[in-house]
Amino acid sequence: MKGLIREGDRSGKVADVQSRLRALKLAVDDPAGTFGPSTKIAVREFQQQRGIIVDGIVGTHTWNELVEASWRLGDRVLYLRAPMMRGDDVATLQARLNALGFDAGREDGIFGRSTDSGVRAFQREYGVAEDGIFGLTSLAALTGLRVDRPGTAARLREELRRNEAGLADAVIMVDPGHGGADPGEIGPDGSAEADICWDLAVRITERLAATGARVRFTRTEVENPTSSQRARRANAVEADVFISLHLNAHGEAGAEGSTTFYFGSSHAGRALADRLQNELVRLDLADCRSHARSYPILRETRMPAVLVEPGFISHPEDEKKLRDPEFLGRVADAITTGIARYYEEGF
Ligand SMILES: [Zn+2]
Repeated sequence: MKGLIREGDRSGKVADVQSRLRALKLAVDDPAGTFGPSTKIAVREFQQQRGIIVDGIVGTHTWNELVEASWRLGDRVLYLRAPMMRGDDVATLQARLNALGFDAGREDGIFGRSTDSGVRAFQREYGVAEDGIFGLTSLAALTGLRVDRPGTAARLREELRRNEAGLADAVIMVDPGHGGADPGEIGPDGSAEADICWDLAVRITERLAATGARVRFTRTEVENPTSSQRARRANAVEADVFISLHLNAHGEAGAEGSTTFYFGSSHAGRALADRLQNELVRLDLADCRSHARSYPILRETRMPAVLVEPGFISHPEDEKKLRDPEFLGRVADAITTGIARYYEEGF
């Protein structure tokens, strides 16, 4: 844009400015194309909102701001190019990625290198082709996500949650895997994953209750809710920590040991998974370590969440151990101690 658009002007350019101002919910009462007092007030309001010089005149700077302000996330494909893309859609994208823990840099509305690497990290985590181009597929993945407080880093949010209350005041959501008509995996000796997980969940509850924590289950003994239903139940009671219990299985009977999973961008989830894993391997279970995964149950829960698989039900030795009430009690002890350590040590 060349020159200035100011009070007294009459042109198509003025009409363009007016329609952009209206789209931003600013009242303009002047006739279309006529820059009257009402347009001037709207321009001043806009300039004030954007933190630029307030003079009621549309020069290059104000015009560029008007153009940037009119972009909404999803209006266009965003990617790193020269000159860099600018707009409120970029700022929204940056805020959302940051809220999820993908570092997209300063929320300045400029698609630069940090935003590019934030988009790529997000695409990696969510199985979208990692090309740094934020188009419809990435948008669909992003909008299906939990972004309850845009602008707040996920890490900070989780840390606040944990610090607000110790374990004694915490609500722990325990999620026994499978259930109802779904027995889960079946061991060589006939044990059902669902039954062992239920038994383990009850034992964990007894131990947690002794610490003062409140425990909620994601399901009753006879039902098998979907992952999303389980996550919603945990979100509804605003649980502080989510522990999903499963058993691993592998066609090859040699696979054995304990594994934990956490949502990749959750630092708190990772810390919790590491604490649980540390305690479980003390029970002479092989160390299959903790891993980042974007399982719906980990992704859709809003609190630090871990999926624990203390052993392989497909492994005859692991299965035998898991059928032993004494050993299962020790697994429950290990998980409870891991949660307590997480509360004591933080992350
Ligand atoms: Zn399972």
